[in-house]
Amino acid sequence: MAVEIRYPHLLAPLDLGFTTLKNRVLMGSMHTGLEDHKRDYPKLAAYFAERADGEVGLIVTGGIAPNIRGWTSPFSSLLASRLQVPRHKLVTRAVHDRGGKICMQILHTGRYGYHPLCVAPTAIRSPITPFKPRGLSARGVERQIRAYVRATRLARKAGYDGVEIMGSEGYLINQFTTTRVNKRSDQWGGNARDRYRFAEEIVSRCRVAVGEDFIIIYRLSMLDLVADGNDWDEVVEQAQAAERAGATLINTGIGWHEARIPTIATMVPRGAFSWVTARLRPQLTVPVITTNRINTPQVAEDILARGDADMVSMARPLLADAEFVKKAREDRAQEINICIACNQACLDHTFGRQIATCLVNPRACRETELNYLPASKAKTVAVVGAGPAGLACATVAARRGHQVSLFEQSGEIGGQFNMAKKVPGKEEFNHSLDYYRGEVERSGVNLHLATRAGPEELRDFDEIVLATGVHPRPVTVPGIDHPRVLTYIDVLNGKVMVGAKVAVIGAGGIGFDIAEFLSHAEDQPSSSQSIEAFAREWGIDLDLRARGGVKNVQAQPPASAREIWLLQRKASKPGKSLGKTTGWIHRLSLRHRGVHMLSNVTYERIGDKGLHISIKGETRLLEVDHIVVCAGQVSNTNLAEALTTNGRSFHLIGGAQKAAELDAKFAIREGSELAAVL
Ligand code: NAP
Ligand code: SF4
Repeated sequence: MAVEIRYPHLLAPLDLGFTTLKNRVLMGSMHTGLEDHKRDYPKLAAYFAERADGEVGLIVTGGIAPNIRGWTSPFSSLLASRLQVPRHKLVTRAVHDRGGKICMQILHTGRYGYHPLCVAPTAIRSPITPFKPRGLSARGVERQIRAYVRATRLARKAGYDGVEIMGSEGYLINQFTTTRVNKRSDQWGGNARDRYRFAEEIVSRCRVAVGEDFIIIYRLSMLDLVADGNDWDEVVEQAQAAERAGATLINTGIGWHEARIPTIATMVPRGAFSWVTARLRPQLTVPVITTNRINTPQVAEDILARGDADMVSMARPLLADAEFVKKAREDRAQEINICIACNQACLDHTFGRQIATCLVNPRACRETELNYLPASKAKTVAVVGAGPAGLACATVAARRGHQVSLFEQSGEIGGQFNMAKKVPGKEEFNHSLDYYRGEVERSGVNLHLATRAGPEELRDFDEIVLATGVHPRPVTVPGIDHPRVLTYIDVLNGKVMVGAKVAVIGAGGIGFDIAEFLSHAEDQPSSSQSIEAFAREWGIDLDLRARGGVKNVQAQPPASAREIWLLQRKASKPGKSLGKTTGWIHRLSLRHRGVHMLSNVTYERIGDKGLHISIKGETRLLEVDHIVVCAGQVSNTNLAEALTTNGRSFHLIGGAQKAAELDAKFAIREGSELAAVL
């Protein structure tokens, strides 16, 4: 009997003529920080080796600069000399040994370089970097092209199967292709043909340098998302020029880094931009790759089955689960640890100059350091609290061979995840919960829901882990017991009908989440669930008639369901503590909806008329129906204190250990790290 293949399009090989990829999944380029130091290449090799083991069709490395002008930051990754080849060989060998294929991305950052040596077609500083680039002379342009060619030759020498030439996201090549940064009047600027000559020269000279049997991916900015980006005809012309110049595959790039439209964060609908690739595909003969917010095999399969693209690129989902493709092939998709598009441990780390990892998979980029090896002695382990820390600890410990009992006093697992999943745009948390529900079962954890474990119940266990979490920090404003004061938990759990005017005390992560939640009407679907609604909200032209996809397109965010004041005592800008790569989106989203954000607030009292505040000595009454307290968290330590009194030793993890700056990234990492050594 024929075996039905669950994802036939995704798992179909792709014949490139001189080589065949085993399936349609490209592990997209993602800078991890491991590329930047010679000493970290063994770790980089181990990281990619696991993804090759996981059966991904083709890997693309994080960006490697072709010369120091193209550095991301001083002394970051570079391939400009033979001396740097051996470290890359470690990576290519590790991948090839596992039957994988790997391309090196050549990334010249141009004016996005975070260093004083950066260059651009014209000396115009970007709005997101502090360094003004030097405008390239004609000889300087020639030198950059030669650097690409040299890097391509060296990549071949290092054993790579190909290169990806990064022409999107607002980096150097993209700076040449648009009038936004290219104000030149020589052969490298002016009309579209002259602006993309730089890209064309690079691709064609690289092709000549390495011959026909080497993959050259050209990553093309298909939608700049900046008003002076390219129009659609120019995008098509450029793609066709890259094809003629010798590109094997055309990959999709969406949005410059300085664009103020989210492109990959969690509020972006899944597969939100594959329609752009679909528009280009019929204009080319080479295969095209689509990207952005593709995080399950089914989403990828649907995109390919519709004919939007020939391949799908996933970067973060492969960080979250190295075995993504293998699990899909073995019809175990429900076992995939899904990327929730939070950016908290990957891009936020990269932009904060830390090594990237993954919130849901703290092993990512730490494959040589954090390993879940079989336990030398099986123990009985009690884990109290089934929030992210407890779940991570219990499931990893059980997988290592321990006999684990997980006690949860509520009727469901998930802890704070159950709050997060209710916030519009954060629906992906539902899938992490599904993953953990499955993982509890698969790993053999003995789950006790609606069970309060005390010292007595824990007495006979070899190890006790307390992941008892947090509760809301009480605040001491006069009138805090007034019936119009609510906790964020009551609001998210739908226990109260919240009025039309609301003040939120506390503008941290949860204050922002609550403001987002309350700005949506109960029956209003989140724009993260509809590509059309998302495009309307952020002002993207789905017909591609507008230059850059956005010029003169009015963003039409839905009006807020309530009048909301988001308050904090600090003088700083509200939302400063939010993630580096997502904070601006949360702020902009609330501003679009007319949420009032106030800093420097002193809470005077709460009364029948509302919340009395003062700002720099000036008193104000916010006549609100409800006041929601989002003033941070404090650790739940009752059980820890009781065990201490009884003289029992235990491990304290997650919010129970440290409530300040608690987040799921910290909780899952702590739970996993402890479980690895129990
Ligand atoms: P938080 O980020 O620490 O924010 C607490 C807020 O309450 C601050 O705005 C603080 O501002 C205020 N506050 C603190 N003590 C107060 C007091 N005694 N009276 C009145 N106001 C007080 O905590 P959170 O919002 O509960 O978030 C918890 C964790 O989850 C954080 O680490 C956060 O990063 C994470 N999280 C992140 C996101 C996200 O990135 N989108 C979303 C949800 C949660 P003032 O002291 O200036 O008043
Ligand atoms: Fe995805 Fe978040 Fe992990 Fe990044 S940190 S890979 S966005 S789950």
